[in-house]
Amino acid sequence: MADRHLTIVGAGLAGALLATLLARRGWSVDVYEKRGDPRLKGYEGGRSINLALAERGRHALQLAGADEAVMTHAVMMRGRMVHFADGHTDLQRYGRDDSEVIWSVHRGELNITLLDIAEQAGARIHFHRGLERVDFDAEKATFLDPRDGREHEVTFKALVGADGAGSTLRRQMAACTELGERTDFLGHSYKELEIPPAADGGFRIEPNALHIWPRGRYMCIALPNDERTFTVTLFLPNESERPGDPSFENVRNGDEARVLFERDFADALPLIPQLEQDFERNPAGLLATLYLDRWHLDGRAVLVGDAAHAMVPFHGQGMNCAFEDCVALADHLERADGCADAFAAFQAERLPNARAIQAMALENYLEMRDRVDDDDYLLQRALERA
Ligand code: FAD
Repeated sequence: MADRHLTIVGAGLAGALLATLLARRGWSVDVYEKRGDPRLKGYEGGRSINLALAERGRHALQLAGADEAVMTHAVMMRGRMVHFADGHTDLQRYGRDDSEVIWSVHRGELNITLLDIAEQAGARIHFHRGLERVDFDAEKATFLDPRDGREHEVTFKALVGADGAGSTLRRQMAACTELGERTDFLGHSYKELEIPPAADGGFRIEPNALHIWPRGRYMCIALPNDERTFTVTLFLPNESERPGDPSFENVRNGDEARVLFERDFADALPLIPQLEQDFERNPAGLLATLYLDRWHLDGRAVLVGDAAHAMVPFHGQGMNCAFEDCVALADHLERADGCADAFAAFQAERLPNARAIQAMALENYLEMRDRVDDDDYLLQRALERA
């Protein structure tokens, strides 16, 4: 391709990784990020604290030269540790041995590692630049500095939207072409809580597992962090289906959360000393699946990651899928004759894959909250392992 310059909107997980992959191949890359530099003032993510990293994601990190740095802080998860209502536990391995595992990584640390390697590869990252609007005909994008409200105009050849589920670039593209956008809200939301380290500085529960407390229509999960804490996520329906069923309608504050935990998550309760404070401080996050029929505006703009296909988190694949997008897009840009061909080939390859993962993520919510403690399911898993 003659003009090897790209402008990426969003320096989150996908934006920083894509910038690295392209810069390492000699592309000139500018990345514009709404937030400040997390290396200076700390990470202000506002989303899940840790993430399950799987083989698909690790492959992309290896190609970007980031795997080693990321894995130094990752905690191995061999399987699901199911916490039954009567208090007993059962480890259901993901594979036959430790060659088939997933890893818990800290979102903020991962983002910082990816920003570092993107800059080392030669990408230019501009912080405090939130995309406001795009004039696709004039090839001009306007970014706002949230600190002083000033606007900055930038000329571009092609834009990549890595600006997450609420993508501004997607909104701007939709004003020019029909993207076939649909968002399905799950009707369930989540709250994050924390299990701190034990008095001796170690982990309070088994570190090498993804813990699940399945309770039918709702559940808790906990992922380990390398500083010996666990991030607990409570998933509840927004409204009760039957009177008295727990939901965010009747679990509204710390006291009501304690009553729920005393009844349904009794073995988790003593592990979360700040339950009331965590519950009241942390916002409830909405969960939704975003479907688009079209991810690009000819050769002028394309969407990747959550901006193209946000999904519910129950398969732990949103980031992994976003990383696979970056590898595919970088490859198509390298091979194709112009951005329009590259973006079309990228969409043709990745859209069906994203749809499949979105469906699996929805199915896995039922499995995690309702089936992993089911006798038939346990028997089937035991037979598979035998
Ligand atoms: P984001 O991470 O959202 O990054 C978008 C970036 O764009 C941000 O830096 C943002 O500040 C910036 N931005 C936004 N608007 C603008 C603008 N107008 N201008 C400039 N910049 C802008 N995935 C997994 O693989 N494993 C998991 O275990 C997992 N667990 C999850 C748990 C929860 C509770 C949730 C909600 C999600 C989870 N995910 C998981 C999904 C994962 O978080 C996303 O798929 C991933 O963050 C997508 O990366 P992204 O770069 O596309 O978007």
